[in-house]
Amino acid sequence: MTRIESAPRHPHYASVSADEWADWRWQQQHRVTSRQALSSLLTLSADEAEAIDALEDRFRMAITPYYLGLIDPEDPHCPIRRQAVPSLGELRVWPGERPDPLAEELHSPAPGLTHRYPDRVLLYTNHNCAMYCRFCTRKRKVSDPDSAPRKGELDEAIEYIRRTPSVKDVIVSGGDPLSLSNERLAAIFEALSDIEHVETARIGTRNLVTLPQRVDAGFAEVLKSYQSRRLAIWVMTHFNHPREVTTEAWDACDRILTAGTPIQNQMVLLAGVNDRSDVVIDLNRRLLRMRVKPYYILHADLEEGIGHFRVPIATGKAIMADLRGPLSGLGVPQYVVDLPEGGGKVPVIPDYELSRPPEDWRFRNWQGRSISLRGGG
Ligand code: SF4
Repeated sequence: MTRIESAPRHPHYASVSADEWADWRWQQQHRVTSRQALSSLLTLSADEAEAIDALEDRFRMAITPYYLGLIDPEDPHCPIRRQAVPSLGELRVWPGERPDPLAEELHSPAPGLTHRYPDRVLLYTNHNCAMYCRFCTRKRKVSDPDSAPRKGELDEAIEYIRRTPSVKDVIVSGGDPLSLSNERLAAIFEALSDIEHVETARIGTRNLVTLPQRVDAGFAEVLKSYQSRRLAIWVMTHFNHPREVTTEAWDACDRILTAGTPIQNQMVLLAGVNDRSDVVIDLNRRLLRMRVKPYYILHADLEEGIGHFRVPIATGKAIMADLRGPLSGLGVPQYVVDLPEGGGKVPVIPDYELSRPPEDWRFRNWQGRSISLRGGG
């Protein structure tokens, strides 16, 4: 069995006390945000150095010391590094890409809100994150705090939810909502729990991966205090690679889970990070050991500047086929493509069906054997 271990520390931080290291404020204050700082910690390629400078005003770099420790400094193709350190691919616009691929702005009835499906809305609470993930699908908003909804606008968004009875589910998103204080998060849940027709709230955060120290007992307590028979709260997160499953992440998940809130994972399928079946199987096994359900594998959206991360759909389908068998159904998520122009998510499923009536139903099983269901359906 693979052991879940503590994240290694970069030697630069060897003298930092255990208390400081475990303090999310210290981690936040010591984020690596400049080329000079990063080049003293890792040997940067010319491509990376140029990209960091070029992206400073567009989608800047920020890496927590904790997440930096997960990077293998000897491996220029390290999957953790790919997610954290800018590269020149981000400056390209690839065929089909657009700034707002899911037409979130078009479906925005109030500032800070997207309403695409009848029963659910996406609420953007702020545009800050502990780390700026290089594959982010909301680069047009994130890392520009000035574009975030202001307090009055958030009130307007809540008011829209209040007067729209079809809304049953609110996805509290950002940026990362955990960039807000526990008190401000509590105020958001207080407002939502006060709306009769809202039944579910989902809070999306990557802090479990990039800054697990922020997921403190106070946050778990906020979730617990608003869980009720009327409002169910779920946490949605993005673990993308097995190395991100550390004892720090395990402890952070445990704080949420033991306080009564379930966690689901939405892995983004990324070239050079997790576009191999063995990596996804390893990740999903580790997620199950943290009691985190692998929920989605998300095909990368057509956001501008992430074409170098996009994986052919055929590869995603092949990975899905490889998961069934080695993993129990609990560890097999749904692979989905979010269609442009607000078309919504569609599942992409491996081809198991070989024939159907008027012939026999015949299926291909996980080992590739063709088996008939004659008389069974
Ligand atoms: S935490 Fe989420 S919103 Fe923030 S940069 Fe990463 S993917 Fe984008």
